[in-house]
Amino acid sequence: MVTRADIGVIGGSGFYSLLDDAEEIELTTPYGPPSDIVTVGHIGSRSVAFIPRHGRGHRFPPHRIPYRANLWALRKLGVRQVLAPSAVGSLRAEYGPGALVVPDQLVDRTSGRAQTYYDEDGAVHVSFADPYCPSGRAVAVEKARTGGWETVDGGTLVVIEGPRFSTRAESQWFAGNGWSIVGMTGFPEAILARELALCYTSLSLVTDHDAGVEAGQGVTHDEVLKFFAQNVTRMRTLVSEAVQALPEERTCPCGTALDGIESSYELP
Ligand SMILES: [Zn+2]
Repeated sequence: MVTRADIGVIGGSGFYSLLDDAEEIELTTPYGPPSDIVTVGHIGSRSVAFIPRHGRGHRFPPHRIPYRANLWALRKLGVRQVLAPSAVGSLRAEYGPGALVVPDQLVDRTSGRAQTYYDEDGAVHVSFADPYCPSGRAVAVEKARTGGWETVDGGTLVVIEGPRFSTRAESQWFAGNGWSIVGMTGFPEAILARELALCYTSLSLVTDHDAGVEAGQGVTHDEVLKFFAQNVTRMRTLVSEAVQALPEERTCPCGTALDGIESSYELP
């Protein structure tokens, strides 16, 4: 397939209106269809493919999202850099709703999700010490700051299995380990991007304080959705500016993630 897009965005349905001259592409992968039809178009001079992470009508809960198909589909369309906006809970009193965290580390607390493309036919071990793209992170932090966001450069995202939220004890345990934010979709997205030698950058919007940080009832889904909806326009602007500021040529290590690895697997 010819290259249709350089940059991928995986995010909420509020991002559909990001793209000019949008065209819908229905495609499938060895891992089944992605969350939804992929929309390809432009933001300024950059070609972008967009996948709504949860599908139309939010039909996939976090643990059922076809992560492997989503990343594979993007790579197949020519994408090499991925921006991943998402909603997260804050584990720290000082990062309140509306803060934008660009994490530099990740802890996987999911279970049972398909998290590799190298599932049979020999062992392949990809380095994941630094799970995020340094170039993408720098762009996201700069654009968030100039856009007036309360911006947090770095921090650890702990990804829980969901779909339930954390208990108070879990939340306090995460915070006690020094972790910053908690979400449900950042893994296996990040490792699958790495296995495909893609750049991957998380733009994590804090929608609430997690259960252990505050008294009261803890997080509710309604609160999260309401807050995210209120911030969708701001997030769209941020993603649009970050897309246009990503480097045309990659100089980060992400593209060489598979160099020196012997494998019979072929990337799309
Ligand atoms: Zn990179």
